[in-house]
This record gives sequence, structure tokens and C-alpha cells, in this order.
Amino acid sequence: MTVNPADLPYEQDRPNDYQWTDKAFDLLIAGSLEAHVYRRGLITVAVVAGKCPRCPHTFTYTTSDFAVGSGGQVLGGTRSVDASDDYVPIDAACVGNHPGRPENQEQGCGVAFRVEALPENVDG
Ligand SMILES: [Zn+2]
Ligand SMILES: [Zn+2]
Repeated sequence: MTVNPADLPYEQDRPNDYQWTDKAFDLLIAGSLEAHVYRRGLITVAVVAGKCPRCPHTFTYTTSDFAVGSGGQVLGGTRSVDASDDYVPIDAACVGNHPGRPENQEQGCGVAFRVEALPENVDG
């Protein structure tokens, strides 16, 4: 029996499994996922949009309240980053339906991953 990928259950066991980061990288290479980091002085905005590495849905993720590359900040993990090695931690907030999704969670299939994104439009 084939499982309709649109009905993938919400991931509960290993939401941060490295395979999602790995697949996200493949999607980036294939152009199915785009990641951009914009810097304006001290403000960093990350925009990631495209296909979720786990389910068939697409999502857009925007965050403006994280600091990358500023004094070796640690981002969502134990690894420190510097200005040339920026990782954006992503919640793939797709709008598809995933059975088992907690009621306090309106979007996503339950996985989180990281993408590498180099800053653009750096001023100064
Ligand atoms: Zn998903
Ligand atoms: Zn989904």
C-alpha cells in the first residue's frame, strides 16, 4: 500500500534528524529551496522559501530576530558560527495537513532543519 505523501503524519520522534538538513541542502542545490540572509547594520533577516525536505508542501520562513556571525553566536545547536559560516535554523511551517499535529501547532509537518545562507546586501 502506498502512503499518500500529503498525509504524512506529524513527525514526533526525531524532528531534528540530520537527514532533513541533508535533504534541504539537496533542494537548495536543485533550486527547489531558496535561502537568503539580508543584513542591514545590526539587523539580520533570513528568508527561506521553497519545498519542505520531508513533505510535498512548500513553505516560507522569515525571521528577523536572530543573530548570525556576530561574535560567534551559537545558533540552535552546539556549533558556533562566524560571518562566513551562517546557518539558519528553520521550522518548515508548511500549510499542509499532517495527522497528529499538536493543537497548538498550526503549521508544519514537525521537522526542523538548518540551511546555510550567506549574507547578501551587506552594507558598509
Ligand atoms: Zn513538511
Ligand atoms: Zn507538509
